[in-house]
Amino acid sequence: MNTTNTEERDLERIVTEIVRDVVERSEELTVPVEMSARHVHLTAGDVEALFGKGAELTFKRSLSLPGFLAEERVSIVTAKGSFKNVAVLGPVRGHTQVELSATDAFSLGIRPPVNISGDYTGAEDVYLVGPRGMICAENSAIIAQAHIHMSPEEAVQMGFANRDIVKAELLGTRTLTMNNVMVRVDPGMHAMMHIDMDEANASGYEGVKKAVIRK
Ligand SMILES: [Zn+2]
Repeated sequence: MNTTNTEERDLERIVTEIVRDVVERSEELTVPVEMSARHVHLTAGDVEALFGKGAELTFKRSLSLPGFLAEERVSIVTAKGSFKNVAVLGPVRGHTQVELSATDAFSLGIRPPVNISGDYTGAEDVYLVGPRGMICAENSAIIAQAHIHMSPEEAVQMGFANRDIVKAELLGTRTLTMNNVMVRVDPGMHAMMHIDMDEANASGYEGVKKAVIRK
């Protein structure tokens, strides 16, 4: 038996496997990932109720996708707990929406559903407190379902349609495969996955901020 030949064959096999793995990886669909901490979207009426008659949201900085972070902040209050200094995102919307992580919801003692933004089925009520008033934001609190934004052009390139459900491998120190991630195709958007703080922490995505998408 010739040991060298056996070793060479082993090496050849290993090299072939590595090359195949590299080729497969390079063909994978990768998108950037952003974490959304707890935040609130408000109606124009609720902005006035919280910040005073005639008040409008003040632009602080742009977000990476259309929309902005406002200077204004609110508190979220329930019978069990509260969060102060919560970010408000503009522009105003047709329905006030409070986006929490499951851990936030636990602290507040509520059980919001995991919904796509804009779906208020089963959404929880919370109180919102601003410097000039307080409201009960009924049917407003949800845990945002992880989703991937993309433009119609990117959707065609990557072979996705609006509301497709995909798997996403969140690359990080504790790489995590997520199921039930929704593709959201809108003009003016670009490829970007949005996850909440629980999902970000579970994957250890800091420093990588990328996900591999699988159909
Ligand atoms: Zn999003």
